[in-house]
Amino acid sequence: DLVDQSIKRINEVDGKVQAFLTIDEENARKKAKELDGKLGENLLFGIPAGMKDNIVTKNLRTTCASKMLENFDPIYDATVIEKLNEVNTVTIGKLNMDEFAMGSTTETSAFKITKNPWDLNRVPGGSSGGSAAAVASGQVPFALGTDTGGSIRQPAAFCGVVGMKPTYGRVSRYGLVAFASSLDQAGPITRTVEDNAIVLQAIAGLDANDSTTVNKEVPNYAADLTGDVKGLKIAVPKEYLGEGVSEASRESVLAALKVLEGLGATWEEVSLPHSQYGVATYYLLASSEASANLARFDGVRYGYRTENPKNLMELYKKSRSEGFGDEVKRRIMLGTFALSSGFYDAYYKKAQQVRTLIKQDFDNVFSKYDVIIGPTTPTPAYKIGEVVDDPVTMYVRDLLTIPVNLAGLPGISVPCGFTEGLPLGLQIIGKHFDEQTIYRVAHAFE
Ligand code: GLN
Repeated sequence: DLVDQSIKRINEVDGKVQAFLTIDEENARKKAKELDGKLGENLLFGIPAGMKDNIVTKNLRTTCASKMLENFDPIYDATVIEKLNEVNTVTIGKLNMDEFAMGSTTETSAFKITKNPWDLNRVPGGSSGGSAAAVASGQVPFALGTDTGGSIRQPAAFCGVVGMKPTYGRVSRYGLVAFASSLDQAGPITRTVEDNAIVLQAIAGLDANDSTTVNKEVPNYAADLTGDVKGLKIAVPKEYLGEGVSEASRESVLAALKVLEGLGATWEEVSLPHSQYGVATYYLLASSEASANLARFDGVRYGYRTENPKNLMELYKKSRSEGFGDEVKRRIMLGTFALSSGFYDAYYKKAQQVRTLIKQDFDNVFSKYDVIIGPTTPTPAYKIGEVVDDPVTMYVRDLLTIPVNLAGLPGISVPCGFTEGLPLGLQIIGKHFDEQTIYRVAHAFE
């Protein structure tokens, strides 16, 4: 019944929202039939879900919203998909995104523009825009996204849903199409904090196929949603309420802090002095890693191949120029330049050093406080077309989500009021591997 409902809803609304790239109706119904009549042994049994299209799914098209992978049918499942299969969720289809997860609006997709369900003239955010829009419009109860510099939290904020970017190493990256391997994490997008906690528990944990996953027990996150935040110490970075952050975003955070104060928490202003360098550092490092990761798309082994090349060099060149979109090319060029000999020390190495300073800022704050709170984004959802041709403006507006990835920390976005009919998000950042406290605070506030 749940799968039927989900498919019915997709048929009703996805013509307008345009969240899905591939719908796997036949297999979803088949799996639902198999589960029918069996007893669900866990909370996710039989629950339909959508997956961002950079998460590989066996025999189910995985395009990364790129012409490069337009016809790519993977031969294996990502670990997160395997883990969800173990608890018998039902994958309904694959969700639109920015091409190779590069972007903040889902407009760099080679295939379609997903609309924000709250206002169809606006973007859903990105790069996991399809995931957030599908959940917000009731097409699926949960979706998975990936977050390299904000791509789960920012679209969750723009679409008024809950999005968690787990600690680096909490969730396996095996089977995610790599963008920037030292920053990428997959995580759940849901309508409630409790649902989010349940999904994260199912996908988290050590994986022999990803040596960066950590051997730490996965807690029962949902069991800790007690509503109790008495005595909790909250830090509010002044840089997160400063220049470039809209009045509405600032006020919504102050209102949220009042609610948490009423529940017995206390807050103080702190400083993360190096966060102003976050965006510059991120674009150097993420693009450098991307230039190396995307070298595999050469027209030989994967995906798109140009027609009738004269020689091997032309095969590489034409396949890549025809297969990749503008934003992806921009990142590959920037990254290749930053890593080139003679410039490596000035750019890549410097950026790594600044990354350490940004991480130390967080360590200092977390030596005295339990969580950090601020807005997820400086503004609500952009109009379609507003920032996509102005990459620097688009990059700069990720200033509040990027530092969390650079430091490898967990962070959530939960709905926190509206401005002009558009949702705003509250970001709660926690200590490494302390998703539990984040969920507890988010749930108490919700
Ligand atoms: N918007 C950021 C970028 O374009 C973040 C993307 C992401 O988290 N995948 O790189």
